[in-house]
Amino acid sequence: ADHIRVAIAGYGNLGRGVEAALAQNPDMRLVGVFSRRDSASVTPLDSQVPVYPMSEIETFADDIDVMVLCGGSKTDLPEQGPYLAQFFTTVDSFDTHATVNDYHAALDTPARKAGTVALMSVGWDPGLFSLNRAFGEAVLAEGETYSFWGKGLSQGHSQAVRSVDGVKKGVQYTLPSEDAIARVRRGEQPELSTREKHVRECYVVLEDGADADTVRDTIVNMPHYFADYDTEVHFIDDETFARDHSAMPHGGFVIRSGVTGDGNKQSIEYSLALGSNPEFTASALVAYARAAYRLAQRGESGARTVFDVAPGLLSPKDPAQLRKELL
Ligand code: NDP
Repeated sequence: ADHIRVAIAGYGNLGRGVEAALAQNPDMRLVGVFSRRDSASVTPLDSQVPVYPMSEIETFADDIDVMVLCGGSKTDLPEQGPYLAQFFTTVDSFDTHATVNDYHAALDTPARKAGTVALMSVGWDPGLFSLNRAFGEAVLAEGETYSFWGKGLSQGHSQAVRSVDGVKKGVQYTLPSEDAIARVRRGEQPELSTREKHVRECYVVLEDGADADTVRDTIVNMPHYFADYDTEVHFIDDETFARDHSAMPHGGFVIRSGVTGDGNKQSIEYSLALGSNPEFTASALVAYARAAYRLAQRGESGARTVFDVAPGLLSPKDPAQLRKELL
């Protein structure tokens, strides 16, 4: 085939993002979307894209080169990943750090048996951030690695803000502490607690007649969620809320701060400022779908992570073109 034939398993935020990213990559073609829900309730961005029941997915084994898994990490992927690796080369964005090796083992066996590649934990964290932590540690053998997240929308903390009496609408962003980043950049190699690394920022639309000071006090003193952090609360109107706080931004920094020779400070920094977390994660999934396809074409099989994939395999450009343009 002259296109890499791709399908999407699970159609939420990430699934929509993968559809949009495939439209920007002419060497790949979206064959269809698979969902556990009734096809009538799943509407792809492009109405020409067919929606199939997840229960029939096995019958498409010969029609699809790479299946992009867009289910949730908590319950969907531990079940769907090992099952689908029996039939397809897959990529996913599994992000439960505590169980990565269990998940790797659960993918590896069926993938080896079937001769497929199961490329796990692709995205930005885990994913591009993981790579940058690995580069930093390998190149600067002596030093500290720091990851900061934000500015990012936190679903759980937004929910907590909305539970406060007098709050009509609310969102919460986690931001890296400017002070902590400045210390790391100066090469101090500080030991930082979670509290010192991040601050919390809330945007609230008040109910009619609600008292701003009372609402602010309730939020900043809320145990577990806010009491242990520096929290700012901003009050805004409905229009501002709708205009500025409807997207899902995220991002962050990975910094390796090291020392070489007789004490020269060296610093490596990688940063992301994402207007849409799911669309960016999906864009990474699509680049890695190309790599997974190429690995499978070479006859490789089994579970893989970003550490196992050579960067050139992500690019639509051939090796000679890459050397000429980017080396
Ligand atoms: P969603 O909740 O939007 O979608 C997850 C699944 O839920 C879908 O595959 C879909 O399956 C089902 N679903 C979606 N919408 C609905 C609905 N309206 N009603 C019922 N079911 C629905 O999750 P996201 O796409 O936002 O995120 C998926 C995962 O991506 C996260 O769990 C996270 O772990 C991971 N992630 C990883 C990142 C990284 O950097 N590695 C970054 C960001 C996210 P179906 O179609 O079968 O019903």
